[in-house]
Parts: sequence; C-alpha cells; structure tokens
Amino acid sequence: LADITRDVLIVGAGAAGTTAANELRKAGLSVVVLEARDRVGGRLWTDVIDGAMLEIGGQWVSPDQDALIETIDELGLETFSRYREGDSVYVGPDGTLHRFTGEMFPVSAETEKVIAEITERLDAMVAEIDPDRPYAHPKAAEWDSITWDAWLRQQTDDDEAVRNLAFATGSAMLTKPTHAFSLLQSLLMAASAGSYSHLVDADFILDKRVVGGLQQVPLLLAERLGDDVLLNQPVRTLEWDDPSTGSGAGVTATTDSLTVRARYAILAHAPVLYDRISFVPSLPRRQHQMHQHLSMGFVIKVHAVYDRPFWREQGLSGTAFSPYELSHEAYDNTNHGDERGTLVGFVSDQNADDVFELSAEERKERILESLSHYYGPEAKNPVVYYESDWGTEEWTRGAYAASFDMGGLHRYGKDLRTPVGPIHFACSDLAGAGYQHVDGAIRMGRLAAAQILEADRG
Ligand code: FAD
Repeated sequence: LADITRDVLIVGAGAAGTTAANELRKAGLSVVVLEARDRVGGRLWTDVIDGAMLEIGGQWVSPDQDALIETIDELGLETFSRYREGDSVYVGPDGTLHRFTGEMFPVSAETEKVIAEITERLDAMVAEIDPDRPYAHPKAAEWDSITWDAWLRQQTDDDEAVRNLAFATGSAMLTKPTHAFSLLQSLLMAASAGSYSHLVDADFILDKRVVGGLQQVPLLLAERLGDDVLLNQPVRTLEWDDPSTGSGAGVTATTDSLTVRARYAILAHAPVLYDRISFVPSLPRRQHQMHQHLSMGFVIKVHAVYDRPFWREQGLSGTAFSPYELSHEAYDNTNHGDERGTLVGFVSDQNADDVFELSAEERKERILESLSHYYGPEAKNPVVYYESDWGTEEWTRGAYAASFDMGGLHRYGKDLRTPVGPIHFACSDLAGAGYQHVDGAIRMGRLAAAQILEADRG
C-alpha cells in the first residue's frame, strides 16, 4: 500500500521541479515533490559562510531569460545590477596585464580582426540554429562530428584568437575541455542565449542578481507547495506501467522510508542521475543509450571576500578574463548593499582537476595568486574564502550542467525530452532557450507540466 497517493510525483526540488509542481497544482492536479537533499534548490544554494552571504550555485540573470524574469517578478523578488564601472582587465600570453573597456579583449589589431571575423561567422551559424531543435539543422551531423577546438583551428592559426573564442562556450559555459564537445554543442550553447555575441558580452550574460540570493526562487515556489515537498527522500526505485502494454496504472516510487503512487512522474534533476534510480521495468534502449552520452562539466566557483572592494579604488570594474590564467574569468560579486567587497572567480575543467590534486592550502594559494594577477597583491588576503565544489555533491556531480559528448546531440537530441509512458523529464540540462541555466530549468518545468496536462486531457 502506498503511503502517499497523488496525481503527479516530482523527483527533485530544484527550479525545474518546483516550477512543474506549481503549474500542475494551478491546473488542479495534486502533486508531491520528493527531494533527496535536506534542502530545496538543487544547484541554487545561497548560504552564509563565515559571516558572508554567498551564492554557492547559480546567481546571474540575463535580459533574454524571460521565464526566469517572469518568475522573479511574480515572486516579488528584487534584482540588482552587477558592478561594472571602470576598466576590465585581461592577462595576455606573456602574463602582461591590460586594461580595457567593451567586449573585445585588448589583443593585437591582427588578432582582433580574426576574432571579429570568426565571431561574425559564428553569429550567422547560430542564427540558423533552433535551440529547441539543434539536431534538425541540415549540417547538424557535420557540425556534431568536429570538436569545437578543431573547428576553430581550421578557421585560423592565431592561437590567441582561438583561445579567446573557445573560452566563451568552453571554460565559461560547458566547462569541459574544448576538444571534448562538438561545434554543434557549442552553437547550441550560443543559440540558447540568442547569439554567440551575447555569450561574450559579460554585461548581457551576467547582468543582474537577486537581492538576498537566487535560491529564493525555488524556496518560495516550494513554500507555496507546503507539505507537498518532502526532503531527505531520495527516490531509489520507480515502478512504471507502460500504457502501451500494461493497464496505464502510472508510477510507484520508493524512497528509504516512503512509497508514493501517482499517475505520472517528472524526473526533475540532472540527467547524469537517472541511473541512480532503479526503473521497473527498465527504461527503453533509446534512453539507456542516450543517457550514457550526457555528462556534467566541471568548474570551481571561488568566492573571496575583502573588507572593502579595493579594486574599485584602482578604477577597476572587477571584470577579468584570461585564457592563460588558472581563474579564466572573475567578477565583482559584492552583495547588494554590502560594504565588503566580494570577488568571484572560476576554475574550469582540466584546471579544476589539477588544483584538486593539491592540498586545500596549496589550492587556495594558487587560486588567489591567479586573482592577484588581475587585481594586485591585495587579492591574496581575503577575510572569507570559499570554493564551491559541486563535483563532490552526490545529487549533482559536477557544474554547471550536463552536455552531450561528441556526436551525441545530433544522434539523440530529439529524444532528450520525449516522455517514456507516464515518466516525463524536466531539467535545465534538457532546455533549448536557457540551456544549462535557471531560465531553462523553469522552461522545462513548465513544458513537462504542459505535457502531462495534455496527456491527462487526452
Ligand atoms: P537541480 O538544481 O540540479 O535540481 C535537481 C534536484 O533533484 C536537486 O535538488 C537534487 O538533489 C534532486 N535529486 C536528484 N536525484 C534525486 C533522486 N533520485 N531523488 C530525489 N531527488 C533527487 N544558472 C544561471 O542561470 N545563472 C548562473 O549564474 C548560474 N551559475 C551557476 C553556478 C554554479 C556553481 C552551478 C552549479 C550552476 C550554475 N547555474 C547558473 C546553473 C543553474 O544553477 C542550473 O541550471 C539550475 O539550477 C538547474 O535546475 P534544475 O531544477 O534543472 O536541476
């Protein structure tokens, strides 16, 4: 006998799951959200560490992210702009620090021309990609069989241009080495943000933050669900009835302490975690195969808090880039109304692997050393220092999100969100617009809810 019976059970209380649950509730269906962790929010996590409020997971909102912006407004949350007065900095191949303004890195005139030309080419290709159906582009197979790095190197032999172009979808977004994913995957990443140029425009892509933290979005959505969100309930097994062969009886989930029966299920978590659940009967071959070609990127988000935002005194905005630095990008991440100054830096893919070989002390030293190349020696002495390591989080396993390996997007993309009987899928990692972002999570939550409502009417 089931402990709980509902119309829909949702696995995961992140942005996608809490959105789907609210949409279904509004349409009159009963729901329960089962969350493995002892908190709501998944990859959104605002916490106080040594007295400093930090965004351990996602935080930025960009102006094209309509679904997220609508949700923020509807929940009555306030946003504020990232600090961006003054010069940005760039560290070149010889380690020299350059100040600059605008989006173009301060490279030689020749390299600048190459970057501008290839950016134009990329924008034209991205404009042809439907982020919801990247696999449908006539050249999808071709573009999915060449790595992002190899394609860039076919366009130019200017190494600095390649590194700067590669970075926008590589270390900064998919957080995998640029030889590990395809040109098509890179174009999808850009198409999901509107254009390649949008991705390299930090003022666009990293525009605003939510006062008090972005985790409030899933927290407030969960609050509306009251007792229908259950924490510490990792779903271990999911029995489902294939409507084409069985009675259409729905799904039964078991956790360590509960049995939940429902007519439909939504798996609202990273696709790399589907195989944490035993499906009875097993999922179809297509899903078995497809899920093996999706993997998480990996990036360390580093916060360093100082008694004041000292870089502003030097006329610096805090925005810093270098494909040659351990921390390939860094920003002013000072909280709204905070007197203290906070920097956030990122250490991606193989650089992240490398520093995790070191002791915690050495790693901190290396990362702060890298920040000091951008902001000067004061950067080495924060009052609070924190590294988010989502790689050790059992219920996430990497950051920021999952993407296909070479060839996977073209081969499997069309079935990413195809329901299997009563089982639906929703997660930022399955999104078109807003792919790998909170906006995409909300869109996918809405989509799964709409699919269920349609199936229910039929
Ligand atoms: P998740 O947030 O991963 O939620 C899934 C939930 O399911 C989790 O709570 C998990 O515990 C639970 N779960 C998993 N398996 C089970 C199970 N078997 N049983 C029960 N529960 C289960 N996005 C932006 O838009 N802007 C940013 O600035 C940004 N920066 C980021 C920085 C970092 C460091 C990280 C990690 C992510 C960032 N992102 C950013 C991405 C964004 O946070 C995610 O895309 C989004 O939050 C994912 O939401 P989701 O609901 O799809 O999945």
